[in-house]
Amino acid sequence: MAATGTRATSRRDWLGCVSCYLMVGTALVVGYYQVPPSGSGRVVRVVVYCAASASAAAAVLYGMIKNRPEPRLPWLLLAASQVVYAAADTTFYVSHYLLGSTAYPSFADPLYIAHYPLVVAALTLLIRRRTPGRDLPSLLDAAVLGVVGAMLSWLYLIGPQARADSPLLVKLTSLTYPVMDLAMLAVALRLILGGGRRPAAFFLLSTNLLAILTADTVYVWQQLVGSYQAGNFLDAIWLGGNMALGAAALHPTVAQLGDRCPPRDASLGPARIAALTAAALIAPATLIVQHLRGAAADVPAIAVACAVLFVLTITRLAVLVADQRQVAITDALTGLRTRRFFQAQLPVEVARARRNGRPMAVFIIDVDHFKSINDRHGHPAGDQALIEIASRLRAAARAGDLLARYGGEEFALLVRDAGPGELPGIAERLRQRVARGPITVCAGTRVAVTVSVGTASFPVHAEDPNELIAAADRALYAAKARGRDSVVVGEGPGLALDGVGEQIPAAVDYLCHLADIVDARMSPHEHSRAVGRWAMLVAAEIGVDAHVARSVGLAGRLHDIGKILVPEAVLAKPGRPDEEEWRLLRQHPDHGHRLVAAVPGMAAVAEIIRQHHERFDGSGYPRGLRGTDIRLEARILAVCDSWAAMLADRAYQPAMSVAEARGQLIAARAGQFDPCVVDAFLGMVDGGRIDRPHRAAGPTREGWVDGAAVDLGSVVPLPHSGEGR
Ligand code: GH3
Ligand code: MG
Ligand code: MG
Repeated sequence: MAATGTRATSRRDWLGCVSCYLMVGTALVVGYYQVPPSGSGRVVRVVVYCAASASAAAAVLYGMIKNRPEPRLPWLLLAASQVVYAAADTTFYVSHYLLGSTAYPSFADPLYIAHYPLVVAALTLLIRRRTPGRDLPSLLDAAVLGVVGAMLSWLYLIGPQARADSPLLVKLTSLTYPVMDLAMLAVALRLILGGGRRPAAFFLLSTNLLAILTADTVYVWQQLVGSYQAGNFLDAIWLGGNMALGAAALHPTVAQLGDRCPPRDASLGPARIAALTAAALIAPATLIVQHLRGAAADVPAIAVACAVLFVLTITRLAVLVADQRQVAITDALTGLRTRRFFQAQLPVEVARARRNGRPMAVFIIDVDHFKSINDRHGHPAGDQALIEIASRLRAAARAGDLLARYGGEEFALLVRDAGPGELPGIAERLRQRVARGPITVCAGTRVAVTVSVGTASFPVHAEDPNELIAAADRALYAAKARGRDSVVVGEGPGLALDGVGEQIPAAVDYLCHLADIVDARMSPHEHSRAVGRWAMLVAAEIGVDAHVARSVGLAGRLHDIGKILVPEAVLAKPGRPDEEEWRLLRQHPDHGHRLVAAVPGMAAVAEIIRQHHERFDGSGYPRGLRGTDIRLEARILAVCDSWAAMLADRAYQPAMSVAEARGQLIAARAGQFDPCVVDAFLGMVDGGRIDRPHRAAGPTREGWVDGAAVDLGSVVPLPHSGEGR
């Protein structure tokens, strides 16, 4: 408190100091003009002028020490420029007034000229510090005004000076001033039009630059037309400008001039549009004036200026459009892409994936119980949480993935080339990244946040953009239903259902959940998910229509749920089942059929499940169907089911290698399996399109010991087990 009070007092003291400096300076300038420029008055004038000029250098040095503006170098350079300027003033006024020398150029001129590069260097450093990186819009605006300034300078100062019949040294000196002024004008415009903080010190510095530029321009023009009189009104502008720089350095806000700021957006306010338009019109207006006067002598120069202005204006427009587009596709809170952009991009990516024969995936990520964060800590805290969640998701996504804010607290991620096998890994990465640690939502308040993730991939779970989003959405719904903070991959339910009611997806979600429970009892690795995934791919490969392929996929996902009705002791028995156990096990296709058929619209899927243990040669169960009496979908399922079982560790046999499993399928071709399906499947295995089952993302059985249970889903005739189960 006391410290704050002291700071406020010292700030007031400083403001008082700046005001005093400006008042004394104004009094000196007024006094300067009161003294007659003759007799002893000349000495007084020289002393007053030089004192006022030197005071600016002293003020900059003193302000630098007191206010310690960062970075130091620009202010060191400005102080140096002011010292050089004061030395030039002293040289000029002493030689002109006291020694009566009117030589031009004089010893003062190299000093005056030397001060410009120092100012330009200082301002360039300051600009780079204030707005790091490119600030293209400001640069272009400054360029427009700079080109107009350069054109006018060329027409009315530089050109006439160059053409004047004067000695070389005079000509060179006279040309150097307007050229240096143009360099200073360029950086001054860039500083004034660019981004960054604009405290009082900024306006004082701008005043200094504009005053010096104005006085210099009038001076060169008066020299040209021969009307310059030493000690005229220009001295007031020069002195005022120098003292504005001294006041800027003394002002306590000078330290803020070096604060870094993001570049301005490209938008154009009405004042800036008016200024740029007026400036750009000066070029053609000058041409018209010259034409009306019958002396259009500068057509080439003005035409070049017009062309450059035209290019700059078009570039500015292009930057503006690009900037506006960026704003339109960027979510203001999180900086992610907007839902609109995501929705526009999705069909493009699906079409690309279809063209290239590559998969792609969509993830929908919804924050769990987000409303309670808002309710407990307030909306701003909720916003803060969203910003951090977005940043964690961005970190979890790969470069090139499209991450968007899809709704209030819902995000969507589009990943190219991600097949079904990769979805659980990516989804888990997203979930874990968000859950990694509590989020600080406001001072001293940290909240733990989790997300649920639903994902689906093209073409396995859906074949068009809307279906893909719907499938991912259903998966998200299933993840929420599982208790949140979880991941669900490509639930295909609903896609195979016709004309069914609202409650159906929930019922199918539940059946999928049962399938996961059964799988977890059998193995720590996924089974029904892999079977569903492959079955759908194989069906699509064989050429059935998409609707049927999705039915096969769903049947694969649910094919084993009948085992939920088989006593766990039977399921978990490591050795061969006895007669009674075998009878119970063989009932699972019928149990599964009944469970699934109870859901309206699922009759076809239920029938596929009932037939998935039938064999092509008629030796299967439960009904001993043969050949094409068995539905094609069930024949596909039988091959995929066997493949998954053979690649899994079993109590009575470790997992086979792919080559061994391949041999088994070939051996059973036309006996147990439909040869066409076996051929299609092995073709896909060889083409790398059948992935390996991975660890289950769903519920796992407590106390599971790897390999302690038998996968009862096997239908492969194992030589030493006698019969597939
Ligand atoms: P669930 O786990 O079922 O997803 O629960 P939830 O509370 O996250 O879901 P619900 O859809 O009921 O609530 C979402 C909340 O997100 C409601 C809304 O006020 C809040 N929300 C949406 N957009 C914003 C936002 O931009 N900022 C903040 N702070 N809250 C938002
Ligand atoms: Mg939510
Ligand atoms: Mg939501």
